[in-house]
Amino acid sequence: MPAQRKLFVTTALPYANGNFHIGHIMEYIQADIWVRHQRMQGSQVHFVCADDAHGAPIMIAAEKAGKSPQQFVADIAAGRKPYLDGFHIAFDNWHSTDAPENHELAQQIYRDLNANGLISSKVIEQFFDPAKNMFLPDRFIKGECPNCHSKDQYGDNCEVCSKVYSPTDLINPYSALSGATPVLKSSEHFFFKLSDPRCMAFLKEWTRGEGRLQTEVLNKISEWLEPGEDGKAVLGDWDISRDAPYFGIEIPDAPGKYFYVWLDAPVGYLASLKNYFDKGGAQTAGESMSYDQFAADPDVEQYHFIGKDIITFHTLFWPAMLHFSGRKVPDKVFVHGFLTVNNGEKMSKSRGTGLDPLKYLSLGMNPEWLRYYLAAKLSGRNEDIDFNPDDFMARVNSDLVGKYINIASRAVKFVPGGKLAATHAEPGAQALVENVRALYEARDYGRALREIMAYADKVNLRFDTAAPWKLVKEGKAAEAAAVCSMCLESFKVMTACLKPVMPALAAQAEAFLQCAPLDWSTAAAPMGEGHAVGVYKHLMQRVEEKQLDALFEPPAPAAPQQIVPGGEELAPTISIDDFAKIDLRIARIVNCEAVEGSTKLLRLTLDVGEGRMRNVFSGIASAYQPAELVGKLTVMVANLAPRKMKFGLSEGMVLAASHGDEKANSGIYVLNPWPGAQPGMRVR
Ligand SMILES: [Zn+2]
Repeated sequence: MPAQRKLFVTTALPYANGNFHIGHIMEYIQADIWVRHQRMQGSQVHFVCADDAHGAPIMIAAEKAGKSPQQFVADIAAGRKPYLDGFHIAFDNWHSTDAPENHELAQQIYRDLNANGLISSKVIEQFFDPAKNMFLPDRFIKGECPNCHSKDQYGDNCEVCSKVYSPTDLINPYSALSGATPVLKSSEHFFFKLSDPRCMAFLKEWTRGEGRLQTEVLNKISEWLEPGEDGKAVLGDWDISRDAPYFGIEIPDAPGKYFYVWLDAPVGYLASLKNYFDKGGAQTAGESMSYDQFAADPDVEQYHFIGKDIITFHTLFWPAMLHFSGRKVPDKVFVHGFLTVNNGEKMSKSRGTGLDPLKYLSLGMNPEWLRYYLAAKLSGRNEDIDFNPDDFMARVNSDLVGKYINIASRAVKFVPGGKLAATHAEPGAQALVENVRALYEARDYGRALREIMAYADKVNLRFDTAAPWKLVKEGKAAEAAAVCSMCLESFKVMTACLKPVMPALAAQAEAFLQCAPLDWSTAAAPMGEGHAVGVYKHLMQRVEEKQLDALFEPPAPAAPQQIVPGGEELAPTISIDDFAKIDLRIARIVNCEAVEGSTKLLRLTLDVGEGRMRNVFSGIASAYQPAELVGKLTVMVANLAPRKMKFGLSEGMVLAASHGDEKANSGIYVLNPWPGAQPGMRVR
């Protein structure tokens, strides 16, 4: 017997700034199928993931939501379970890159790289937001494209002409956070010296290792590993530091400096694994080694499933980080393409959700339909695949239900008492199992399912040709029972072959067949004469057209809320005349400044189209920096009696939304009209 394989498998860590979309679910299903296949051949697998919690986008999103970044990512993490359970995605552990294990591991890897002479530092100039008092990530700097002069383009590239440039090339740059004009400021940054000849030599060898990367992936990254025209390395040193304020992991011995999120994100694979070992999960699953032993064991195979948008991080930076910090490197990186829906919308990490996974589940659609369909489309190559509703319905209804499920329900009727008769050995079973098993190993699930369906065609043909219903009429019930017993044996073989893709269905089918949980060693073995199967209960419904219609129907506008969030009760009903007494006007915030002696108030100078300015104090200092508001339009109560305050006269009130319960601390939101409104217009 070959030695048991020991595998460490991960999927890419999802960025914790939003819920899963169908692209995440596809990747997890792809990996989950592979893990289940491995377990069916007796491999010991530890399959982990974690939330990617750090970085400027999360810090900024948390601030907008009025939460701490820790609370923000905890709330996102709390929403993960229904997706994972719903689609039978069985990670052994789910963790966070903000967990202590990740802080320790990332800092230790950095120290090891530094000791190895692969960390350098230099002072660079970067845009700094003087209102927010922070360095701006490229995506938060906007301005006019230096090439085509389109306005409001991002700091890294133009969405109109596709030109790639550096933020300092933008004309009239402004901060997307505060609107302020950014200033250039210099700061010391730390770099991982990927251009070091040692790194280049290692990466050339590692990336070209036997079966390490898919051919198309290797071709894509090879350009980074050849010297450029000037003979210098094309792969430059990698900037791995960011300045405070930043939500991340502090760099050792460098106060105010944090690791760039992409430095500590893949370390999260190890952190989740360590957490799993340290809390005893791996031991419960039969693991005898400690985390340190496992992480250093040369026999452990390490595999990462990722999307094609993060290839360079996983095939260049990550292996180099591991190797030069004295750690084991990944064995293989499996790259998949994007999922489109109706050949349309791209489902990359940062974009849309044409197929909402939770909506799919809430409509009562079977999660294994989706697992089957995605598996049928996946080839093990880095290729985009498309979700097509008609194709989905055809494959589930015609193939899965029509060919596989139905053979059990049709055959069992002619096997009296479910007791299997003597059958001829089915010659194709062993070959099918071996073939399918190899295809799963190569992640060519589409071909595996085609092989299974071709086998199902043969089984159905045998059933139809024998016509057991006729045999029974002709008094040849024993012959009918023999043919149908053979069909049930074939159904068992197909159940084993489909099990990695459809674990819940396989469990039901095993219960019907009254056989022990199937694995690759038992998949082709006959249940045998005299084995009794159970009573057949319908195993799977067909997809209905109306379900797909509902799935792709745009969401209806929200119904009026009867229960007020936060529990603030509605004020008593008023008449339209009462409402008309309140004169609401569009106001331009001409100026805004802090009020000395007050932490709550901002002083606003408002233009309401009267030919004079109004002075208004507003209790919004906790939510806005003055510079964020200057130039913006809002709505004010223009006929409120002026009020004398400690700091001066307030001539009106600016409208802002807030929670009824102040302790909820969910922020204050100044109203902002749609573009086109002008100062002085009445709001009614
Ligand atoms: Zn442009």
